[in-house]
Amino acid sequence: MSILIKNVTLLPMSGEGTIVNNAYVRIKGQYISEVGTGNAPDGRDDLVIDGSGQLLMPGFINTHTHAAMTLLRGYADDLPLMEWLETKIWPLEDQMNGDDIYAGTRLAILEMIKSGTTCFADMYFSMDRVAEAVRDTGMRAVLARGMVGVGPEHQQALDESRELVANWHGAARGRIQFILGPHAPYTCPPDYLKRVIALAEELDTGIHIHLAETAGEVSDIEKQQGKTPIALM
Ligand SMILES: [Zn+2]
Repeated sequence: MSILIKNVTLLPMSGEGTIVNNAYVRIKGQYISEVGTGNAPDGRDDLVIDGSGQLLMPGFINTHTHAAMTLLRGYADDLPLMEWLETKIWPLEDQMNGDDIYAGTRLAILEMIKSGTTCFADMYFSMDRVAEAVRDTGMRAVLARGMVGVGPEHQQALDESRELVANWHGAARGRIQFILGPHAPYTCPPDYLKRVIALAEELDTGIHIHLAETAGEVSDIEKQQGKTPIALM
């Protein structure tokens, strides 16, 4: 399959803010085979797209999502974060099953593709179903199981994360990366975070965490730990 995009304004993101006017880009299979300006040499392309008035650039990367929450859009708005989580979101999430997560993630992926996002970093639960949605749609993603370091689920979160990294890291021809997702300093005390860091080092993988989300968190953590959430990390 050969695709030619012609007459387009090109933003190659090469680091110098370069913009190339009246450019063309040819794609053969899954690779860019040619980039130039003016009229493209005839390449017997299967598809020619006129990019007049359009900007062509690499895909966006959404660096923080809970993709399946697309299903919860409009359910609870305009509330302070903790009230929104504790009274609305967490009780509803308790009723969501793996099929809901798969469907919600696919909806989010559809919306991301429509707006030019080709990779996302997701932290949620039922992450095997999120990974299936990524595998089935052609997206790229960096996935993490949300881990809470207090209560009965703290060890399960470590065990499941280890298993998810083993099963999914590098899957879908490398489109999926799996890392660790300690939820936040207010749900993961320092001793637990140290265990997460040790596991990340053992598995040679990364960490995705919420940090300094609200003024309340910053002052609470400063009171408890003697430093801001950023300094604590
Ligand atoms: Zn978040």
